[in-house]
Amino acid sequence: MSDTFSPISPPLNNIIALTDQLLDVAATAGASDLHLEPLSQSMRIRMRVDGLMRLLEPPFDQLLGSVAMALVVRLKLLSDMDISESRRPQDGSFQWQLNDKQVDIRCSSLAGQWGEKLVLRLHWKQQNIELNEQGLSIKQLQIVIRQLSKPQGLILATGPTGSGKTMFLYSCLKHIEAPHLNIVSAEDPIEIGLEGVHQVAVNTNINLSFNQILRALLRQDPDVIMLGELRDFDSADVALKAAQTGHLLLTSMHTHSISEAMHRCHGLGVDMLAFSYCLSLIINQRLVRQLCDQCKQPMTQSQLAAMTSAEWLDAVATYKFSFGAVNPCVPASCDSCHGGYRGRVGVFDLMVMDASKRDSVAQRQVHSLDQNFGVRRQGLWRVLAGHTSVAEVNRVTW
Ligand SMILES: [Zn+2]
Repeated sequence: MSDTFSPISPPLNNIIALTDQLLDVAATAGASDLHLEPLSQSMRIRMRVDGLMRLLEPPFDQLLGSVAMALVVRLKLLSDMDISESRRPQDGSFQWQLNDKQVDIRCSSLAGQWGEKLVLRLHWKQQNIELNEQGLSIKQLQIVIRQLSKPQGLILATGPTGSGKTMFLYSCLKHIEAPHLNIVSAEDPIEIGLEGVHQVAVNTNINLSFNQILRALLRQDPDVIMLGELRDFDSADVALKAAQTGHLLLTSMHTHSISEAMHRCHGLGVDMLAFSYCLSLIINQRLVRQLCDQCKQPMTQSQLAAMTSAEWLDAVATYKFSFGAVNPCVPASCDSCHGGYRGRVGVFDLMVMDASKRDSVAQRQVHSLDQNFGVRRQGLWRVLAGHTSVAEVNRVTW
């Protein structure tokens, strides 16, 4: 704990500087979330970087109670939250700019045993949302662009939480944004503002629900509609109707596999025959941490000799056939990375619908669609290209 901040009555200007410093640390690390978590006598601050939680360096690893309280009050004020209310959950947001760093921050509070915890979700303005930088292979990129150029259909992005589905959908919208298209979206919440896209957020304060927005958007003469997530029968039904009536619809579902997504749709009561005819492309996606180019080490002969699974040998054979020499590496550590990794990239498996796949979906014989092996294969190819590690692929494709 720095002596600069009095544990009894921290001066306001120091709290302002402390907030700046905290967000600067998060910006430098490329954090996606900040967690201010009360302990019995103090508060610890952690951040999520590349999908994993990490304790901040001192003085932010643990702040004394009164400093922490002042910081929480400052963040709640900035977020336009009620500072006199600390028991009920609250949400708020604000924008932050420090030098060349700009960030949209969504703040949520939730009281627990030791007090109020704040979680800040950080959306950095310079986030990369170009379609060709998401991690798609050249062939996959061509497939996605071809499907995006069609005037109607349904593109469904699947993957677990934190697999980059939303960013992928944003990158698709950014790719097709043009004066001749009316692009609209219903989101809960809007994570990144896109110029040229009419984005509408759910607002519980005025009882504006996801499904109300969807129905209103359909009356706004849309060409392309993005629905943040298919989560219930109503949203799936509206999505289906939109795709059936000459719109291109992009949406996502929190599932681990393509077959699981189909089971979920059926469970929601969706007409699977109609759904099968609307679907044009299903994507299954993960985000893997990238090995740091400064310090990664080639796998040794003994490490390679231990890789004897049929899946690995098959990936090596197919990689060599398609791309040439392999260069699998393992993480090390250096000053410019954290544990041998720096940044993340998407690993994608794509399934373009054809007649036989439509039959499988319509008849709910979806096991044959399960592409989880596909996303693992794509991940292992990334390992063989030296972009990520086997451990990382195993971590995200369990
Ligand atoms: Zn490194």
